[in-house]
Amino acid sequence: MSLSVSLRRIIGVGSALTGLAIAAGLTLAALEFGPQGVAPELLIGGSAVLASAVAGTLYRSATKLLDRLLDDHQTEHRRFQTAIDNISQGLCFFDGAQRLIFSNRRYAEMYRLAPEHIRPGTTLGEIVDERFKRGSGPDMTPAQYLDWRARIAVSSEPSDTLFALKDGRTFAIHHEPMPDGGWVATHEDITERRRAVAQIERMAHHDELTGLPNRVLFRQRLVSSLATGSETAPLAVLCIDLDRFKAVNDTLGHPVGDALLRLVSQRVGECLRHNDLVARLGGDEFAIIQTSGAQPGAARGLAQRLVRVLAVPFEIDGHQVMVGASVGLVLAPADGTDPDDLMKKADMALYAAKAAGRGTFAFFRPQMDEQAQRRRGLEIDLRSAIEKRELELHYQPIVGLGQRQVVGFEALLRWHHPVRGMVAPDIFIPLAEDTGLIDSIGEWVLNEAFAQASHWPPSIGIAVNLSPVQLKNGNLVAVVSGALQRSGLAANRVDLEITESVLLAENSINVATLHRLRGLGVRISLDDFGVGYSSLSYLRSFPFKKLKIDRSFIRDVVGNREAVAIVRAMTTLGKSLDMLITAEGIETEEQYACVRELGCDEAQGYLLSAPRPAAEIETMLRPERRLTLVAASRF
Ligand code: C2E
Ligand code: CA
Ligand code: CA
Repeated sequence: MSLSVSLRRIIGVGSALTGLAIAAGLTLAALEFGPQGVAPELLIGGSAVLASAVAGTLYRSATKLLDRLLDDHQTEHRRFQTAIDNISQGLCFFDGAQRLIFSNRRYAEMYRLAPEHIRPGTTLGEIVDERFKRGSGPDMTPAQYLDWRARIAVSSEPSDTLFALKDGRTFAIHHEPMPDGGWVATHEDITERRRAVAQIERMAHHDELTGLPNRVLFRQRLVSSLATGSETAPLAVLCIDLDRFKAVNDTLGHPVGDALLRLVSQRVGECLRHNDLVARLGGDEFAIIQTSGAQPGAARGLAQRLVRVLAVPFEIDGHQVMVGASVGLVLAPADGTDPDDLMKKADMALYAAKAAGRGTFAFFRPQMDEQAQRRRGLEIDLRSAIEKRELELHYQPIVGLGQRQVVGFEALLRWHHPVRGMVAPDIFIPLAEDTGLIDSIGEWVLNEAFAQASHWPPSIGIAVNLSPVQLKNGNLVAVVSGALQRSGLAANRVDLEITESVLLAENSINVATLHRLRGLGVRISLDDFGVGYSSLSYLRSFPFKKLKIDRSFIRDVVGNREAVAIVRAMTTLGKSLDMLITAEGIETEEQYACVRELGCDEAQGYLLSAPRPAAEIETMLRPERRLTLVAASRF
């Protein structure tokens, strides 16, 4: 260490010079070397020569030079002292007998030592005792510390050691051995740095909102759990997704959403055993590594508990918040041992649980993998379907039962996939809803359908299906009004069809949106009536213009008294609320006659026409066809 070497020189040269000045023995030749380069032997040797050459001028010159030399040395010594006193590390030098040669100010500060404790010559043992007395010793006895010191002192290798002090500070000590058995040590207080590193570490591995481990830490734990025990003790991974979190966030605001996530993390934590780990993977997604219990029973039990406790309403800011959760489970090693693969499979199981109606759990099954891959492929393609002009609307006539004339058309989406062929809306609409693509697709449908309808006679209406997901989008009213403006279509020619599910969740907000839509002048119809909850309260919650009886009731209406009774009841109910009644799925003349008899107003179905491309609509509207919509080709 160059610093220590130069210091030893200064100390050595300093004492030699003091001795010589007293003896007044000094040669000019020796002085020419200057303090840094002069070896003590040379100076001592020179004193003999000087004794015989004492002469006035020569002596005066010599003392002047000596003064200058001492001055120079003191200045240099001060500079040096100031420099090392101001470095941020504590610095100390010990000789081979473990006596302090020198230490800087920072060293004393770090160990709260007074000047008398660090006089040169003090032994390491005395200093260490003092350090321990002042509470700035490491978490060991002075003897243990000295033992460690002694061990590294005999080594000729430099070493670095970290010490956690009893007072909470952490010091890094660098030990540099010297050839004479002494050493130079630098002591650095790295408490703050360590704290910062620990904080960064914590932030990188934990979720700020709930304090739970995050995805990164979860994965690390999964990797290590799999490495240590999955062969002998199977483990389970559970992925949890809250069922209605987005709705809570959107309607009650983010602070309530945040509070909810914290409460959820608490409830989940209460379901766990000591060794299990729960993490927040992001958003409203949580995951658990369950290492305790016999599988699959333990995982099933935990999933049931989770679903149960998360279904209990949360009380937040005076709101009763109901969310519920779905859980996907995967077992290791039964379903695999690769962490990413397991997570993917747990996700698929979660998806299956959601598809099964939410508020439930599902174990991974290998078939899910194939389904998921198909879905992923479909999703990728669907993303580009609009730009590639693969989407198209077909139009199915809606016919007035009395006159059997076309009163309007329902726009039904078709996807012409270049490889898969025609993909039915029943398959890709749910996918579009799950991925949020429904917003852009739905907007395209509205614009396209209104633009088409604007070329039809003014008496012909257009019906467009709206997904419940579209209703949640705060932009829907603007989208509908934009489409009306662009097309120039009169709003009173438009029917927007919604299903009962829209009224199920967040009733009041959706009803408000429906009122705003109605405010634009369009009509709202209730589609697929009978398959959902068919509750009178839903019918009452909004002034629907039309009620469309689902085709499953029409199918059996001929000759089935029960079906007849249901259709009659629906018709009566609708009429009492001033609604028009449309019968869907009319495939035969008998059905047509029957629903007309039962008091329905309109009909739709293959008997009249399957949905057809826009180009064929004009023909359908020709006066001579108006009354002959009979044997239309089946779709
Ligand atoms: P939906 O609104 O109930 O549409 C009627 C469905 O019944 C259509 O199926 C139609 O082709 C079919 N259909 C019509 N007449 C008959 C018949 O006599 N017999 C039988 N068996 N079926 C008949 P499609 O076109 O496959 O549409 C299925 C569903 O996809 C629609 O049911 C609707 O819920 C949804 N959908 C279609 N287009 C859109 C759209 O643009 N947006 C949204 N959000 N959903 C759409
Ligand atoms: Ca419909
Ligand atoms: Ca329908």
